[in-house]
Amino acid sequence: MARTDLIIEGLKTLFPHAHCELIHHNVYELLIAVTLSAQTTDARVNMVTKDLFARYPDVYALAKASLKDVEKIIASVGLYHNKAKNIIALSQKIVKDYDGKIPSTRKELMTLDGVGRKSANVVLSVGFGLPAMAVDTHVARVAKRLGLAKYDDDVLKIEAKLCKKLPKESWSIMHHRFIFFGRYLCKAKNPECEKCPFTAICKRAKYEDQRL
Ligand code: SF4
Repeated sequence: MARTDLIIEGLKTLFPHAHCELIHHNVYELLIAVTLSAQTTDARVNMVTKDLFARYPDVYALAKASLKDVEKIIASVGLYHNKAKNIIALSQKIVKDYDGKIPSTRKELMTLDGVGRKSANVVLSVGFGLPAMAVDTHVARVAKRLGLAKYDDDVLKIEAKLCKKLPKESWSIMHHRFIFFGRYLCKAKNPECEKCPFTAICKRAKYEDQRL
């Protein structure tokens, strides 16, 4: 079986129900949760968003929030000061420029404070059901170990390679399966290779001196 097919089938068997682990009930909540999740875990974000969304249920409410109040609620999340500023500013922009509706193009999403390409892709894919491949640290590491990308590839290159190699209709679910695989099995440190179905095609040994 070709490498890509083996990976698609193997991950489907391992993680049939992989999904976005950021708790959200609409695209607004997803956008805010994704923005808060930079350099921190989804579990940590989920600990603060319940209170945050109870107090600020939409962009109109968050646009009018005081920085201090938002900081207080999200204080346990890394980089909370900048993130508080960003989520208030992006809400203000959405109210002002998009009539309160979350934009649904990558270009527009990336004009929002704190929203980079990866976050925009998550919102497109999970929030709007559009084909997009978000490459975070798990996806990047796993793509390299599985030989779908090269060691030196940057995130843009990895995204382009994954989009080329994987069927478009699978991008969203494969993104979640890569993340589950990287989070729970092919971890950065001490991957559980004894449980892995991809040992025969794994490139990690090749990159061992570079600590991939
Ligand atoms: S064999 Fe180990 S390092 Fe390689 S893909 Fe599987 S879990 Fe990851």
